[in-house]
Amino acid sequence: MFYQEKREGYARVGKLNGKRTPLMIELGDELLKKIDFGKAPYSAKFLVDVSEDLLPKGEIFALTGIDRLDARQLFRAFEEVRGKVVYAVAAAKPVNVSLLIYFGADIVDNFLAIAKAKEGIFFTEDYEIPVEESEELCSCKFCEEKDLVGHNTEMVRREVKKCRFLIAKEELRNYVEAKVKHNPELTAALRIADFEGEKELFPRFKRSKCYFSNLESVNRFEVQYFLKRAFECYKPVTKTLLILPCTAKKPYLVSKTHRIIRSKVKVGVNEIIISSPLVVPREFELVYPALNYDTPVTGYWSDEEVSFVASWLEKFVKKGNFEKIVAHVEGGYRKVVERALKDFDVIYTAEGSIISESSLKKLSAVLEDESYNFFDQIFPSISRYQFDLEFDGDVFGKYPEIELYKCDEKVARIDLNYGKIDVYMFAAKRLLKEKKFFVKIGNFEPKGTIFAPGIIEADEKIRPNDTVVFYSDEIIGVGTALMSGKEMINKKKGAAVKVKRVEPLR
Ligand SMILES: [Zn+2]
Repeated sequence: MFYQEKREGYARVGKLNGKRTPLMIELGDELLKKIDFGKAPYSAKFLVDVSEDLLPKGEIFALTGIDRLDARQLFRAFEEVRGKVVYAVAAAKPVNVSLLIYFGADIVDNFLAIAKAKEGIFFTEDYEIPVEESEELCSCKFCEEKDLVGHNTEMVRREVKKCRFLIAKEELRNYVEAKVKHNPELTAALRIADFEGEKELFPRFKRSKCYFSNLESVNRFEVQYFLKRAFECYKPVTKTLLILPCTAKKPYLVSKTHRIIRSKVKVGVNEIIISSPLVVPREFELVYPALNYDTPVTGYWSDEEVSFVASWLEKFVKKGNFEKIVAHVEGGYRKVVERALKDFDVIYTAEGSIISESSLKKLSAVLEDESYNFFDQIFPSISRYQFDLEFDGDVFGKYPEIELYKCDEKVARIDLNYGKIDVYMFAAKRLLKEKKFFVKIGNFEPKGTIFAPGIIEADEKIRPNDTVVFYSDEIIGVGTALMSGKEMINKKKGAAVKVKRVEPLR
């Protein structure tokens, strides 16, 4: 009866008995009579008419007593029931419901909304205040009728609807990061999840923008994964390295500053771009989140930022055999380079503006051209990152809209929505041969979506949003994963792969 449509980390959207989840159920809802509350706390048992007519054992797990848990226990409770349909009982308030959903709640309720209303507490999006002070704060239809239960319920309902929308847009994380700031306990729970949580359900590529607005942003899965993975896959070759600052426009190379530098200076060496919190070798600038993020630019760098970026810059630089390092950076960026590369002789070439005539002259004078063309290294680099193998060939197109060909056959293109590679049959067959990102399906004709029951075998490394190759005895195709590889194997229901292209297997 539960059907998962799309996963994003611990959160997901789906359908339960035809209703969209995450779902808020209300006191009196028929569904409540079917749930086994087990050792429910007194408050829930008091409110709910528990019936003997239970759901199939184990499908819906009622997580009770949440309000008594501390930050770590809260996250652990969700970890323990991962994979089940999770109902967070008597726990939802407007301020915390997005975090509950981010942690994996499929169902919440309006019990606290009712209980608080009975105590004379009025919910706003973020705060709880005495109802007497609420006069000018809301004009919903419930407030017009002085129905506080109705108003509080409506506030939770709106948050739940917003979360459904945000999961579909792949934006929930940005929202939760902002929301938890209203409460240190919620902030703690998110931090603990980032450091201690299992991450196999998190996508590596997303179509939403990554906002680096606070301390938690650095701990996001996609940031940690990008730095670690780009470092693993980085293969610098030139003797000289050029370090440049990031730009607001992405990819960096289409920004005005990077374009001016390239028009005045011949850049034929490896480049690394530094940002906060990313360190991005030029070859990886089309990969999410490097392709699509925003970070507050003020010119002030905190000591934590400098240390974090410097530690990664040092690692990337040490991966090469650079004999000369040229840093065309200023301000906070220079601080990062100074801290990261204290054991190296670094030539600093920027004076004031990095695009001033004197800066560019200086850069031009010290930068030897080693005829390195990063353009040819984009597909090999990103395919190592994404598939653990290398696709190479001839690159065509206008940067960043580029495609890879081999013997006149289209191999791959850059998917600029997701910051990843999209593959065609030539590459799909290679992935299949090497048993990477494969999904074996039954002998049916896949259209639109492949569902979990149709899947026979899948690569366990697959994450949601990964490009995958699916096949049967008759066909081969390319699609986008909607769930993890393990879920594809273990789930009896739900949407597993969105079909992009199919052809007969020859
Ligand atoms: Zn209202």
